[in-house]
Amino acid sequence: MSRGFGMSHYVFHENITTCEECDFVNSIPPLQSGERFRCQHCGHVLVSIHKHVAARIMGAGLSALLMLALAMSFPFLGFSTNGIERSVTLFNTLSVLLSHGYLVLGAIISLALFVFPLVYLFSVLFLVWSFQHKEVLNFAQRYCIRWLVVVQPWLMVDVFLVGILVALVKMSSLADISLKLSFWAFCGYVILLLKTITLVDKRWFWNQVAGKAADHPMIDTTAKQQGLIGCHFCGATQLGNAKHCDRCGHSINSRRPKSIMTTVALLIASLVMYIPANVFPIMQTTFLGSTEPSTIMGGVLLLWSLGSYPVALIILFASVVIPLAKVLALSWLCWQSYFPSHRQTEQKIKLYRITELVGRWSMIDVFVVAILTSLVQMGNFMSILPGPAVLSFTAVIVLTMLAAMTFDPRLLWDKDDAPSASSLARREE
Ligand SMILES: [Zn+2]
Ligand SMILES: [Zn+2]
Repeated sequence: MSRGFGMSHYVFHENITTCEECDFVNSIPPLQSGERFRCQHCGHVLVSIHKHVAARIMGAGLSALLMLALAMSFPFLGFSTNGIERSVTLFNTLSVLLSHGYLVLGAIISLALFVFPLVYLFSVLFLVWSFQHKEVLNFAQRYCIRWLVVVQPWLMVDVFLVGILVALVKMSSLADISLKLSFWAFCGYVILLLKTITLVDKRWFWNQVAGKAADHPMIDTTAKQQGLIGCHFCGATQLGNAKHCDRCGHSINSRRPKSIMTTVALLIASLVMYIPANVFPIMQTTFLGSTEPSTIMGGVLLLWSLGSYPVALIILFASVVIPLAKVLALSWLCWQSYFPSHRQTEQKIKLYRITELVGRWSMIDVFVVAILTSLVQMGNFMSILPGPAVLSFTAVIVLTMLAAMTFDPRLLWDKDDAPSASSLARREE
């Protein structure tokens, strides 16, 4: 048995890694399965090795693919009102959008629900399989790990699932919506995909593919203070003049160049898009020949007046509060990293983690509109089409997600040690 699968061997045996959130160089003890290791400086989880990780990833990943196949093969949702019945498959969700010319919305749905998850699942499964087959080309493995790190934040199957539930509530006064066989398969797909994501650890994967990172640096300070660079992608630590990571090949910087400027530019762009997203209708409902547009806020007020308070609050939070709060939080973090401040770095980093975590949930309303469009297509009697605000609202979400990604959280910690106490003391000696 080789590399980590042995009985008494360590599952993770990299010695040194740099934290991508605070730039602190950590010395990692050999870890066995079931153990996790947190950054000694900021507490960010650097490595977590689940028990029987390879077998469990295989199991969860393959079952997720099976569930997706089932979810695609049978009716997904049923819709009935006044004696008219209609049932749609998951594939209809796409075909209806495409046939009405909503190409961008169709593309977003297919990327978030199918393309990115499939890229992720196939990469993970290929990697776990390849660890036991040494003849496999190393560059294919490297590409796969890079892919899964890039694609992971854009997997939105769970958000889509909540979108379906919101759509059910929205339509409940107008029609009966029934959950068909494929819906339950889709739930299985969502749960198994999320399970796979929690089992995947990028550092463990890199360790299996490329072995240890260089282990000469001294510990207990940031990589920058030692003239080193920590790779944001794989956690390896390199010499300060390196342009590309030795291990994963990604371009590396001690601090992302123009991070604050890029983040601020993306935030301004998202604020600009926020205006049309709220002014124009996000959905157009035709009922008995008359078409009524509704904006995001209009949808929230309608749900509230119908007494669906929890769903109204979910949409209000996801579509109105979260995007604005995210812009405010990131602007404040940019301000805090631009002007030195020594206070409450832990709180700031927590705020940063929350903004990264909740951003994608704003997609709920976009998914609700897509689901209702595919479901409610009965000509003049009753039909629903996306309004112009869908695209600007999607742009708001994508731009704020990109803003959170381009922000370099290591800048927040820099102020803590800018003229670090120990280096000042050394100078005085
Ligand atoms: Zn850290
Ligand atoms: Zn790297």
